[in-house]
Amino acid sequence: MNLSSRRCFNHVSREAVACCPECSRYFCRECISEYRGRVVCASCLESLTTTVVAGGSWGGGLFWLVMVFSGLFACWLWFYYLGSILLFLPSSFHEGTLWH
Ligand SMILES: [Zn+2]
Ligand SMILES: [Zn+2]
Repeated sequence: MNLSSRRCFNHVSREAVACCPECSRYFCRECISEYRGRVVCASCLESLTTTVVAGGSWGGGLFWLVMVFSGLFACWLWFYYLGSILLFLPSSFHEGTLWH
């Protein structure tokens, strides 16, 4: 088996440049990408990243739900804080002018 006979798993016309360590299939430069110091194919990269981020289907959903709610809460807190500052500033200015 010589190197020129190795073709990309996704592209039959393209010559393979790298072998994926996860699925041990050959891919072209376009189909392969680097992930944590390793060169893996697009499908393996997707499975690797989804397992890292999500874990389980239910756990992943809960994770995103918590992320969204915490983000909304942070936004609300920020705007509430910003609003209280904006409300506080003019009154203090007015009080300052009254003192003179
Ligand atoms: Zn692969
Ligand atoms: Zn390819």
